[in-house]
Order: sequence, then structure tokens, then C-alpha cells
Amino acid sequence: MNNEELQILVERVSLKHFGKAFKHKATFNARLRTTGGRYMLQSHNIEMNPKQLELFGEGEFMKIIKHELCHYHLHLEGKGYQHKDADFKTLLRKVGGSRYCNVVPGMRREIKTVHLYRCTKCGLEYKRKRLINVKRFVCGRCKGKLEKIKTIS
Ligand SMILES: [Zn+2]
Ligand SMILES: [Zn+2]
Repeated sequence: MNNEELQILVERVSLKHFGKAFKHKATFNARLRTTGGRYMLQSHNIEMNPKQLELFGEGEFMKIIKHELCHYHLHLEGKGYQHKDADFKTLLRKVGGSRYCNVVPGMRREIKTVHLYRCTKCGLEYKRKRLINVKRFVCGRCKGKLEKIKTIS
């Protein structure tokens, strides 16, 4: 999908689900990182994250477009256009928009650190979320000494 196609799509979604025209610009912005899309208060334009479409498909993409259009129409009409506003919540529910616009779901990598230990006697491996004191903890099977192999994060 290119910018022209995005523009047509946003205009179409606006007419179909909001019954109102989208009269500004909708463009892709590859520099958006954790943001799925954004509505810009000054220009009234909408920017969409191309990764949103790649990663989550058209269904999710459409929901973000609806979310941004909620900001758009409410803002232009002088109504409550922020996430916390009742107008926003009501309209969002009505059109079935995504609840979030500022985080691409799943893109924030959860960092799970795992420390890997091995018993020096029997070779049994242990995975621990926390560092353990190898001087105090011994192998549960043979009471052998543990050594740290590596940390995965
Ligand atoms: Zn939003
Ligand atoms: Zn052991």
C-alpha cells in the first residue's frame, strides 16, 4: 500500500463509518516506532506506521485508522477528542476502533533475562530468572557445585 492508497482508504473508512469526509492528508511514516498511528492537532493530518500493516494485517490496521479518525472528527468538531474523554470513548466503541494508537501491540520487546547454570558433577542444567549464589546453592540431584554457563537476555 502506498500513500495514495492509504489516503483513499482513510477517506473511505471516514465516509462509511463516520458518515463524514476526511479532508486532510493521510500518509505513512516509517519513523514511527511504537506508535501505530497518530493524529496531528496542528495540521489535522494522520500518519500511519507501515509496520502496523506488515505485522498485524489489515484488520488491526483498519482499527487504528478508525481510532485516528475518532481523534480527527471530534477535534474538528470541538468535542472531547482525547483518550480520557467520554465523547472519544463513545465514538470509538461505536465505530469499533482500536483502543490504543500509541503502542504497536507486540512491538515492545519484553526482556526476559535467564541465567543458565550447570552442575559441575552431573551436568544437570538449571535456568533461573535471578542470579544465584553458586557458593551457597548446590545441585538438587547430586549436591554437586553449580557453575554459571551464560546469561540470556
Ligand atoms: Zn489515540
Ligand atoms: Zn548434579
